[in-house]
Amino acid sequence: MIISMNKNATEAEIGAVLRKIKELGFEPHYDKGSEIPIIGIRGNTQKLEEGRFFLPGVEKVSRVSKIYKEVSREFQPWDSVIDINGVKVGGTCRPAIIAGPCAVESRDQLLRIAEAVKEAGADMLRGGAFKPRSSPYAFQGLKEQGLEYLAEARGTFGLPIVTEIKGVEAIELFEKYDIDVYQVGARNMQNFDLLEKLGHVKKPVLLKRGEAKSIDELLLSAEYIAASGNKRIILCERGIVPHKDSKTRYTFDVSAFCIVRELSHLPIIGDPSHASGHWKYVAPLSKAAIAAGAQGLMIEVHHEPENALCDGGQSLKPDKFRELMAEISLLIGR
Ligand code: PEP
Ligand code: MN
Repeated sequence: MIISMNKNATEAEIGAVLRKIKELGFEPHYDKGSEIPIIGIRGNTQKLEEGRFFLPGVEKVSRVSKIYKEVSREFQPWDSVIDINGVKVGGTCRPAIIAGPCAVESRDQLLRIAEAVKEAGADMLRGGAFKPRSSPYAFQGLKEQGLEYLAEARGTFGLPIVTEIKGVEAIELFEKYDIDVYQVGARNMQNFDLLEKLGHVKKPVLLKRGEAKSIDELLLSAEYIAASGNKRIILCERGIVPHKDSKTRYTFDVSAFCIVRELSHLPIIGDPSHASGHWKYVAPLSKAAIAAGAQGLMIEVHHEPENALCDGGQSLKPDKFRELMAEISLLIGR
């Protein structure tokens, strides 16, 4: 349920509504700093009568019409901005660039790439330590050792680290290495147990859209995390099921950026590396994503793509990544 206050509602009137919500056993959602005085009510409000809130200063009481609630723009009309050790994602902030290898392969590989992406202006470092691979015989990642190298790279280059969590059992390890952003991969978008557990962690979650999942399903998955208590969620469009004769690995759903921003206050970033599967298309698709409203990008970078243990073909070499960073600055004018 959403209570829209009159534009000139006084603090006392807002306070009375907040008290009423608590008296009735619910939790209000209200951002004091926001220009629009709108109060959301968390939890199942189906049996709550609108009339309970016809108080002084209240303009309108309405119900959220979307199937998701906390992540909807109706519930919170202003953009969420997620702060990751000073890197801001969302709203009108400069698009946040997450870059790094598909997988952490060795200490030397990670530190080399981290240095290169930092020097080119990336905001965060990515690298998979637990890799979801189609084949059980493919490189599965360095696991805990990979997290250790990521933490070392963060210490050396000062970039927050983003890495994929494949299952709930890894949460303890992620806490041990103080991972800055927990990435939920496309294959795990509907791992509801994992989503619920990530609702209780203290770190932001980067939730990738499943290749065959709708925008509503993506937002419902985000709702699982938000409803369990963690509101720091970044969504990621990484390509959806391609046409059978497609020339790309997936089809980059560029419309997802504007649609998600209309439906939700959560930030959304784009991953043109997995979407295209080819380094050649990463730069043009990056710019398309930003033009369509993406609030950040996740880009795979490797200093020796031809020897990469995973996704070399879609990884940019550091010099190409540097060029792309310059093109992005030109595009956004800052
Ligand atoms: C990744 O980002 O490392 C990854 C595996 O991507 P996705 O989950 O989108 O396939
Ligand atoms: Mn990859």
